[in-house]
Amino acid sequence: MNGKRLVYLDNAATSQKPNKVIDAIHDYYTQYNANIHRGVYKISERATEEYINSKQKLADMVGASSIEEIIYVRNTTEAINLVALTWGEMNVKKGDHILISQMEHHSNIIPWQMLAKRNDAVLDYIELDDNKAGLSEDSFKEQLDKDPKIVSIAHVSNVLGSINDVKKITKLAHDRGAFVLVDGAQSAPHMKVDVADLDCDFFALSAHKMLGPTGIGALYAKREVLDKMPPLFGGGDMIKSVSMQTYTPNDLPWKFEAGTSNIEGGIAFGAAIDYLDGVGLDSIRKHEKKLTEYAIKSLSEIDGVRVFGYGPKETDKRGGVVSFSIRGVHPHDVATIFDSDGVAIRAGHHCAMPLVTGVLGQGSLSRISFYLYNDIDDIDKAVRAIEKVKKIFKC
Ligand code: PLP
Repeated sequence: MNGKRLVYLDNAATSQKPNKVIDAIHDYYTQYNANIHRGVYKISERATEEYINSKQKLADMVGASSIEEIIYVRNTTEAINLVALTWGEMNVKKGDHILISQMEHHSNIIPWQMLAKRNDAVLDYIELDDNKAGLSEDSFKEQLDKDPKIVSIAHVSNVLGSINDVKKITKLAHDRGAFVLVDGAQSAPHMKVDVADLDCDFFALSAHKMLGPTGIGALYAKREVLDKMPPLFGGGDMIKSVSMQTYTPNDLPWKFEAGTSNIEGGIAFGAAIDYLDGVGLDSIRKHEKKLTEYAIKSLSEIDGVRVFGYGPKETDKRGGVVSFSIRGVHPHDVATIFDSDGVAIRAGHHCAMPLVTGVLGQGSLSRISFYLYNDIDDIDKAVRAIEKVKKIFKC
């Protein structure tokens, strides 16, 4: 980038793709391009098999009991909207409460705002703790007393990096009769997730943040919950039979996948899961923890750079996301100067305006975020870019 080695530190936005994933897309189009479920000929059977295999790989990876619990959607955003539009319409009525937190991505805010508006429900927020590092337990308990119908929480914040104890949150929410959705966009790519152990009702993720292609993601939901939910879209593939006036929905998971699927995306997602399995999610987590520790230490030692106040200090409680600000310099200028050194970072409100502008009181923040292919040298390059920013702005 700009004649320099690309230092890609915007992994919370999307990840780079291994050749295996790109090859999987190429192979599908060049060797067995056909629609799935419909053909009785070889290449259609192969496409169907590869697509279903991908779901099985994901089910195994996240601890779902079978592929019936894995719905392929476009991304995390669509997964959450699907829940709000189906389960939400059935279960959230006038005056009911919906509980989210102040650290949510817009994807886990707007669908609930829309549902609350449609059904005259109330949207409540769990506040951050005093250090702006995680969620306040007192605030959570206070909000639970309102008996929300659903608690929808990020597993890992894309701004603060905070890892929320979603297992404990789920237990407490279930004790009050609430359902739980975990937004796993920033956890599933970076750490071992076990939905059975978490016991959450819904879990949403995006393939593009975990080495897979864009346009494919998944909603995990407990089978008994999905059984009671109506389909969101009607059309081909989601039916068992159709008459002039009515239809019988298909079995799970196909009931929720109307029309021709993102076949190439599903298959390539399977290749991404194979890759992640090969490296091991525990190793990835360990590697990112080391990088995060090094980054927090390096950045916090630079005069005028603020890291603390934007997430936990302890890397046990933090994913590979480090937001920072440089006194007197706008984050967009920071990101532009980084770019001139070949270092790709994100600057802005990170699709979390209630958190960044509201709670943290910042117009925007700069953010570096890691993945398995980053190394210490990448962080050193970021540090040098910060020094360049300070030199240019004389601060
Ligand atoms: N939730 C969190 C915590 C995220 O970080 C993101 C994306 O950055 C999303 C949801 C939305 O993901 P997508 O744009 O893939 O739907």
